[in-house]
Amino acid sequence: MTPPRTGDLGPLQDGSRAVIIGGGPGGAAAAIALINEAAALGRQIEVVIVEGKQFGDDLHHNQCAGVLSPPIVELLEDQLKLPFPYHLQRSLISGYTLHANGSTIQLDGGTDTSIALRRVQFDAFMLASASQRGARVVPARVTGLEMHADSIVIYTENAPLKADVVVGAFGMDEGTAAFFTELTRYKPPPALSSIVTKYHPGENAMQKFGGRIHAFLPKDARVEFGAITPKGNHLTINIAGIGVTSPLMDNFLHSTDVQTALTGFENAGRYDPLDLRYFKGRFPRGLARHYTGDRYIMVGDAAGLVRAFKGKGINSAIQTGVRAARVIMRDGISASAFGQYHTANRDITGDLPYGQAMRLLTISAARINLMRAVLKAANHDERLRRALYDAVSAHRAYNQVVMDILSPGSVKALIRAFLSYFSFDHD
Ligand SMILES: Cc1cc2nc3c(=O)[nH]c(=O)nc-3n(C[C@H](O)[C@H](O)[C@H](O)COP(=O)(O)OP(=O)(O)OC[C@H]3O[C@@H](n4cnc5c(N)ncnc54)[C@H](O)[C@@H]3O)c2cc1C
Repeated sequence: MTPPRTGDLGPLQDGSRAVIIGGGPGGAAAAIALINEAAALGRQIEVVIVEGKQFGDDLHHNQCAGVLSPPIVELLEDQLKLPFPYHLQRSLISGYTLHANGSTIQLDGGTDTSIALRRVQFDAFMLASASQRGARVVPARVTGLEMHADSIVIYTENAPLKADVVVGAFGMDEGTAAFFTELTRYKPPPALSSIVTKYHPGENAMQKFGGRIHAFLPKDARVEFGAITPKGNHLTINIAGIGVTSPLMDNFLHSTDVQTALTGFENAGRYDPLDLRYFKGRFPRGLARHYTGDRYIMVGDAAGLVRAFKGKGINSAIQTGVRAARVIMRDGISASAFGQYHTANRDITGDLPYGQAMRLLTISAARINLMRAVLKAANHDERLRRALYDAVSAHRAYNQVVMDILSPGSVKALIRAFLSYFSFDHD
């Protein structure tokens, strides 16, 4: 049942209440931005975050690899007025090593370093910051919704809440998405599964591994990509694909490419008995449908507002949280006011077709062994190497990556590599 429209769907005014479902980066950013916007406009509003997990004390695990990429510092400091939590940093990511079809290439981006940290600690920091700025945090799960012409009722494991507007920041939680699909035309984004594990190879092996993320494009059609990320005293290892399973992770861990990247692998479990337990997570791989409507707006993963192929989901969640808050405070909370949100997110949505094309091309090339030739070409062409770096690191938009790949120099280098590949010169 779609709620009936009312006339009073303008920007939030004194005494209004916004309830945010989910206190991950998208929800916490939306809360802080709502509070900042309200203060700038001289309005008194109430912001409530309902979050079911406890991020402190290791009670809940987060599958995320916790790599924060540029411009994360500017996002926090300029857009949220929040000092970046450098004290949480575990490793600095200096570059990437891409493995595909038995070949390897080093990809470096100069000063574009990323920061690896423990995701639960980052979430705890963001939620505490929202609370310090005046958001009320309700430690409970949302268990149901009612949509009315003049309000939304949010049922929780704690007391129920009534809101003028709801921000859906519940990530890929299928149960919460179902509350919206029952009441609105919202359809959650299509998903990619991921299996994640940790491995403590010991201090010396960690030093030897260094500050590079190793990214893998396996030949197995069921695995779209894999990655090994250094996180201070351990490595986070993950694979992703539409239906990845634990046997596929076993195969990945024992593949030659991974064994080559992992020195001292035989020591697994010696430094931490909980090593190599598998966790499962999900990424969006496309946009959600109807992720805005009268009195509700989704941000981050719940909206599928992320890059098509490779990551930066935390940045997108924060960015879209800030944009949702601006529209709520300046334009209104109706389906038509949220048109401004769709306009503001065109940098993400406009780049999706390019990302999806790159995703298909890369996966297909890896499956038919062509990535070997692509890496060979990139070794001889700076622009192609830069394009691969940008695609793997997610530092630039995919349309720019595609332009670099289609530049005359890169096309020439690719043709040369393909010709030598097909004449069986596979060096
Ligand atoms: C394996 C893996 C690795 C990743 N690595 C990276 C990376 O290195 N860098 C990066 O930028 N991104 C990474 N991502 C993506 C990133 O995790 C997400 O894009 C990001 O967390 C999205 O933020 P969000 O706020 O939209 O949702 P989430 O972070 O998922 O937050 C949603 C919150 O809502 C809460 N919630 C859900 N339902 C309810 C309910 N009913 N009641 C109360 N609370 C509820 C949840 O408990 C959760 O805390 C990774 C993802 C996966 C799966």
